[in-house]
Amino acid sequence: MDMLSNRINSLSESATLAMAQKARDYKAKGIDIISLSLGEPDFKTPKHIQEAAKEAIDSGLYFAYPPVPGYQDLREKIAEKLQKDNHIDVKAENVVVSAGAKHTLANIFMALLDPGDEVIVFSPYWVSYAEIIKLAEGTPVFIEGTIENDFKASAAQLEAAITDKTKAVIYSSPCNPTGAVFSREELGAIGEVVKKHPNIMVVADEIYEHINFTGAHASMAAIPGMLEQTVTVNGFAKGYAMTGWRVGYMAGPLWLAKACQKMQGQVTSGICSIAQRAAVTAISGDMAPTKEMAAAYLRRRELVKGLIDEIPGVKANLPQGAFYIFPDISDYFGKSDGEVTINNASDLCLYILDHAHVSTVTGEAFGEPNCIRISFAASDEDLKEALRRIKEVLAKLN
Ligand code: PMP
Ligand code: GLU
Repeated sequence: MDMLSNRINSLSESATLAMAQKARDYKAKGIDIISLSLGEPDFKTPKHIQEAAKEAIDSGLYFAYPPVPGYQDLREKIAEKLQKDNHIDVKAENVVVSAGAKHTLANIFMALLDPGDEVIVFSPYWVSYAEIIKLAEGTPVFIEGTIENDFKASAAQLEAAITDKTKAVIYSSPCNPTGAVFSREELGAIGEVVKKHPNIMVVADEIYEHINFTGAHASMAAIPGMLEQTVTVNGFAKGYAMTGWRVGYMAGPLWLAKACQKMQGQVTSGICSIAQRAAVTAISGDMAPTKEMAAAYLRRRELVKGLIDEIPGVKANLPQGAFYIFPDISDYFGKSDGEVTINNASDLCLYILDHAHVSTVTGEAFGEPNCIRISFAASDEDLKEALRRIKEVLAKLN
């Protein structure tokens, strides 16, 4: 469409959301799709958080515009949590609450980037990083981890990628799509490189913090000397099964928090008041449901890894966190069932969708064209059936 801007024309559609839509379309036609494409907990938001939202409505106190950066008590609770759990020395004024971590990331990159600024992205990376950076007229520069090093690019790779245009570095840990987790030592080594460049910010995406199978979550902002050069991104979607409530946040230096607030003040204002009240209860309430969900993801990781290892030609590492597994399926490239030939990971995802009725996401969307992403945020029965079907249809490719 000629009237559309270059900005929107050059923006790719979110591959995760596109695949989820495809799965919904198939389901609407009555096809029994098992959806393992969307990174979305299959659990319901814990009851006490639901109740808090109902009470907020019934109180009649929360119908007006909330403050742009979020309710003060929510920002205070977030700052408390960051100090206590993550050893990040921030106050409420350093925190801005947004409509999901995706919105938080958009605020941050709009606030940080001028045209041509480079952002070094640890790859494989979450699908929206590159597009949000481009939307803010920045240039993503990828440093690549491989399956051999657990998909973790190194501090040395980071150092080699830095130029005088580098403005920021972004990673997620636990990582979407690979499940890789950076240890404190690994973050320390990355921090040493960044500290040599005081004008570079690290965007540390910790949204899968509570789904970490290593027993230890490390935060970049807690690495000595990194507080002023780090913005921590987190949210309620994954740890509290609150994807639809849309609450995320940033915590960083005051100048950046103020810039994100300014951005948000012109584009969205403060986010949904009732969702914020629910978030206050989530962050200060019982963590048992979060722990139970994490235990279920760990059990499913074992299940899925075991079943994937039984599929010939598929190679997967063991995810250390989040709820994705990211197998290398490149063995199937060039193979055919007599009708369809598989040339790449996108072809394989479509083949699996069409023939096994299981939706997954191509690794191309995450910067790794040899892999596909399978979400294990699904029931044990669905996971077993999905992998049985995938194994069956892959066996037809020769
Ligand atoms: N970062 C990562 C790594 C993600 O996987 C997601 C997807 N939920 C987000 C950010 C965005 O989260 P939210 O749903 O809070 O916008
Ligand atoms: N983050 C999830 C995923 O990667 C949700 C979808 C999205 O926001 O892109 O599947």
